Amino acid sequence: MAAVGAAWSLNGHGARTCGSCTACCDGWLQIEVRGHKVGKGQPCPFSVAHRCTIYPERPQHPCREFVCGWLVASSPLPDWMRPDQSDMIMLAANFFWRGFPVDVIVPVGEHPKKKALDWLMKFSAERKRLLVYQIGDDWFAFGPPAFQTDISDRLGRGEKPWGD
Ligand code: SF4
Ligand code: SF4
Repeated sequence: MAAVGAAWSLNGHGARTCGSCTACCDGWLQIEVRGHKVGKGQPCPFSVAHRCTIYPERPQHPCREFVCGWLVASSPLPDWMRPDQSDMIMLAANFFWRGFPVDVIVPVGEHPKKKALDWLMKFSAERKRLLVYQIGDDWFAFGPPAFQTDISDRLGRGEKPWGD
């Protein structure tokens, strides 16, 4: 697909391209494309054999606007963490908790690769970034105890980690 304002305030890699990755079209993100709901187990109907069949006419929203945390120009994520290779899509600074950006990790498949999750936790700890990630249907929060409690409370109320 191609952007979300990822809000990295870090210097990182040069321009990247999606290459053969189509993770954001494959039903791992909950989106709507030309009236078609896309979500888990329901890839975009215009994605055939990992190719967009309407690429030149794909809609502005969400297709042209979407840029995952790996693709964004200033991404600190290493090359090997491309979503189809790390089994995770990062939505950088997807929401804010007490004014701090929270990175959201959506799995591609059941769960992110362990190596990718390990890398992220180390990165988040070093940069003091907050992280929520999903394994199967369960969400986990990585950050200070108050953050973990708040996220857990939201989930307990049946809300999403970023609130309702
Ligand atoms: S998940 Fe990221 S790298 Fe993969 S196709 Fe979407 S925007 Fe491109
Ligand atoms: S229309 Fe094309 S770019 Fe947009 S989600 Fe579907 S396959 Fe991906």
